Amino acid sequence: MRKPIIAGNWKMYKTAAEAKQFVEEVKGLAPDASKVDSVICAPALYLQQLVASTESSALQIGAQTMHEEKEGAFTGEVSPVQLKDLGVNYVIIGHSERRQYFNETDHSVNKKVVAAFEHGLTPIMCVGETLEQRESGETGSVVEAQVEAGLAGLSEQQASELVIAYEPIWAIGTGKTATAEDANEVCGIIRKKVASLFNEETAQNIRIQYGGSVKPANIEELMGMEHIDGALVGGASLETDSFVKLLEAGSHA
Ligand code: PGA
Repeated sequence: MRKPIIAGNWKMYKTAAEAKQFVEEVKGLAPDASKVDSVICAPALYLQQLVASTESSALQIGAQTMHEEKEGAFTGEVSPVQLKDLGVNYVIIGHSERRQYFNETDHSVNKKVVAAFEHGLTPIMCVGETLEQRESGETGSVVEAQVEAGLAGLSEQQASELVIAYEPIWAIGTGKTATAEDANEVCGIIRKKVASLFNEETAQNIRIQYGGSVKPANIEELMGMEHIDGALVGGASLETDSFVKLLEAGSHA
């Protein structure tokens, strides 16, 4: 049985005071950690404060990106060692906004995934197709290639622990969700690819989230699908009410 994982991706939203207030409100309401992994991926600036305020609660804190080197002359970047030092558990790698606006490629995503594991962080690696690719029937091949490149060099154990977020780019922040059937189909393709790269056991262990306009109104249907083990949520993770509803749905899946 795969434990569901619901992760909020705050992107570049919230002030320090807003972040603190959100976490103070949500931490007591997060379901038991045995039922669902509840994660907030916050701006790097607030990670230290949020890790401290969620200690001994079920809410876990993740980062939204990181550099692949452990230290060095990389102005403005944050390293995996620094994240681990703060007590962060998860890190989103290769979000489509990072690929689109910050030149991240399958190759750099792979380096970051490998580095995250080296330093004891669990990567949430994002894959997904553009609208154009979907319309020309390339979804499966695009996503398979992203998975193959992203997982290069991982051990079976690491691949089992990785979280993959399938996020069709056309569904992010647009209010358009993939149908639960379409999302499940692509998550199934991803799982099959993992089986062919590693083995069936690894494929059964790996957790695959869907992301793209997930909200309380559609999460239950998505979570009811065979291959969908959670959600990566942007907009609906910014409000305490909707985020708590998503966590509850995750805990019942
Ligand atoms: P959204 O964002 O839920 O606002 O569509 C998802 C994401 O970018 O991870």
